[in-house]
Amino acid sequence: MKYTRSSALFANAEQVIPGGVNSPVRAFKAVGGTPIFIKEAKGAYLIDEDDNTFIDYINSWGPMILGHAYQPVVDAIIEKAKLGTSFGAPTEIETEIAALAVSMVPNIDKIRFVNSGTEACMSAVRLARGYTGKEKIIKFAGCYHGHSDSFLIQAGSGAVTFGSPNSPGVTNGTAQDTLLAKYNDIDHVKSIIEANPNDIACIILEPVAGNMGCVPPQANFLQKLRALCDEHNILLVFDEVMTGFRLARGGAQELFNVKADIVCFGKVIGGGLPVGAFAASEEIMNYLAPLGPVYQAGTLSGNPLAMAAGLAMLKALESDAEIFNRLAEKTEYLHKGITKVLNDHKIVHTINRVGSMISVHFSGTPVVDFETSAKGNNENFKTFFHGMLNQGVYIAPSAFETWFITDALTYEDLDKTINAVHKVASTLQK
Ligand SMILES: *Cc1c(COP(=O)(O)O)cnc(C)c1O
Repeated sequence: MKYTRSSALFANAEQVIPGGVNSPVRAFKAVGGTPIFIKEAKGAYLIDEDDNTFIDYINSWGPMILGHAYQPVVDAIIEKAKLGTSFGAPTEIETEIAALAVSMVPNIDKIRFVNSGTEACMSAVRLARGYTGKEKIIKFAGCYHGHSDSFLIQAGSGAVTFGSPNSPGVTNGTAQDTLLAKYNDIDHVKSIIEANPNDIACIILEPVAGNMGCVPPQANFLQKLRALCDEHNILLVFDEVMTGFRLARGGAQELFNVKADIVCFGKVIGGGLPVGAFAASEEIMNYLAPLGPVYQAGTLSGNPLAMAAGLAMLKALESDAEIFNRLAEKTEYLHKGITKVLNDHKIVHTINRVGSMISVHFSGTPVVDFETSAKGNNENFKTFFHGMLNQGVYIAPSAFETWFITDALTYEDLDKTINAVHKVASTLQK
């Protein structure tokens, strides 16, 4: 494949944009090479500026669960745009999408829309602090909750890909209020709570971690966290920015049958436009301004184009009884296919999968937390990434990311992907 035009565009971008990208994970820093510039996308495929076509497993890092340029979403945006693009005043469609989201997700009465997952998580934590009157939070190493200050403590995703899990610019004061726990280690969480009795406002986590690769919660980890929170008067915050409207209609809460006190959304809920949201019981949500004392706001929050895209997306998911089964089946098919090929080539690996999230780790030990995720053979990952790209398969340029399966993928696409793994496997270290 040729990347001539992408390389030239990247060189131009580097002149005026730091690192040439508006979000670090888009750079190919962890794997080397220059990022490909996308011209357009449809269904399961991306087309770059050199007219190469790729089967896409990034899918805008999650939102495009039904594939790119999904027609009902595109139509909804176009129709809305004709009526004006922002008013800074209430619109009916905000209530429509709020009501639909509340009906699909368990344990929430009210929801507020923001413009990104970062904003959703940041606001959720402020609400938890305001509601409980406590200041500290527990987060897990390798979990990513966006780039607001209190979360850039051992964050996953781009923050670890670039070797700066603790970002300069975050004050010591802020860092001290974030207590760090090991994912899937309930005893560690207990010990942190015991050392900080009466100080912890909330525990925030990805109920299925997706930013250190895909790491499922182990045996009753979520249930045990729920019990600990109840015992110590701590709010449980599920960051479902990645898992919401992806693992099930009601997200991880539904899949694992565990109630969260506050739930954060992003990605799928915006259908590919910039949307985040956070939701909770009426009692907790009424703590927000203008009803309550916790301030939170946004000039473009609930933007009509964003709401139109999100509503069209949620309606499509809501009306398709088989969608989440179908996605899980496709993902399982891919899992089995890749496992067989890598085993045939005697490549040491571990594959994690939940629903339509899957990640391939070049590691022989189970990947259950950040430490075990970081043990993967990164040289093999680099070779694998570039090999797959040259075979026309676009996976995330970091071993700390999940692949997202979309409904637009056909079994033929999956077979092509497995076949690409077969070609690339012979170039990997055993
Ligand atoms: C992507 C992501 C975020 C941040 O969302 P942005 O829209 O990028 O700000 C937060 N939490 C999780 C779990 C995510 O995957």
